[in-house]
Amino acid sequence: MVIEVNTGDAPVRALFSTREGGVSTGGHASLNIGATSGDRPDAVRSNREALARAAGFDSLRAVVLAQVHGADVFAAEAGGGAGTYTGTLEGVAECDAAVTRAPGVALLAMGADCPVIALWSDDGSVVAAVHAGWRGITGGVIAAGVGAMGVGADVLHAAVGPHVGPCCYPVDADLRQGMAHAYGADVVSGDAVDLGLACRRALEQAGLAPEGIHVEDACTACDEARFFSYRRDGAATGRQAAVVWIEGEA
Ligand SMILES: [Zn+2]
Repeated sequence: MVIEVNTGDAPVRALFSTREGGVSTGGHASLNIGATSGDRPDAVRSNREALARAAGFDSLRAVVLAQVHGADVFAAEAGGGAGTYTGTLEGVAECDAAVTRAPGVALLAMGADCPVIALWSDDGSVVAAVHAGWRGITGGVIAAGVGAMGVGADVLHAAVGPHVGPCCYPVDADLRQGMAHAYGADVVSGDAVDLGLACRRALEQAGLAPEGIHVEDACTACDEARFFSYRRDGAATGRQAAVVWIEGEA
């Protein structure tokens, strides 16, 4: 159900959900966390509660976003409020990144091929979650998320979650050229783009130390048993998530 991220000595938890261990069926089977791809709301609620229980965060304060492939950041100091994560299931803001300094407020970013990123500071004073598909990456969502954390980027760490790999992500020439120009020629191989490497470069450009960045190498499209994939399964697939929070109560 979860892939735990090693956050070292920081008083922070970060993890990525997988598709295993939920109650949804069909293309959403089984631990679908997303509410916008046609799954039954009661199943999504059950899955989100199960993820919160298994991971150990407070479902009433968890923050989900209405993701729009943009670069706006939601300041989630007060949490999502009851009635979002497991209530209406709707995102609290049309943003693709969230940041908080409030202990116990879990931030979620969701994807079904798009990289989702957990960020935290050495001292655990601030965390962020970022949804970084190609439109978000090229639109600057990673730099925006890092900037909104309000600390020197040299004290930040990042974990980039499972995403569609270059093995399964052919894109058009314009996008390849744009990515190569912004993030280096090696983010393009053949007709494909390596989104994980593009995220790494964007994080480095935002000031993170290379050794502070971890990129999961699992490909969501190749690993059907563990991950949802839009490229593989189309629009009616589920969503996995990055989750990050500061340990302790507010
Ligand atoms: Zn693949």
